[in-house]
Amino acid sequence: MPIVLIRPSTIAGSKINRARSFHSTVNYLYCPKCKELRVKAWYERRNRCSRCRGDAKAIRIPNSWLTYVTYVFYVIVPALVAVYLITHIGLYVWLSLGGVVLMMVVSFADVSRGAAYAKNRIKITDGDLHEFRKRGWR
Ligand SMILES: [Zn+2]
Repeated sequence: MPIVLIRPSTIAGSKINRARSFHSTVNYLYCPKCKELRVKAWYERRNRCSRCRGDAKAIRIPNSWLTYVTYVFYVIVPALVAVYLITHIGLYVWLSLGGVVLMMVVSFADVSRGAAYAKNRIKITDGDLHEFRKRGWR
């Protein structure tokens, strides 16, 4: 009697992982060798340093209220444009433009916060700090 192995737990697990990676908006990659910190691109699967191609440490930035404010603008701005296209009331164009500007300001603040968070995490988690000091790096 052939036994067909179906593992619903693995399937469910991969789904959860995918949902999780969708939720974590920003990941930073840090290379201890090059001391390079950069934002991980969405298409990158492996945590690799862009300079030395070595293993880089991934630092996940948790969402802040700024992230959610950006999400809200992502919804509001097209909605305002849609309202303008229907009603042709000029006010909504200006509101949507204002929304775009605000969204840019908020997302910039969020990116700065993420970078500060990542730098803090490096300070805490970096076990090679001793090594850096020996080589005269800061
Ligand atoms: Zn590197």
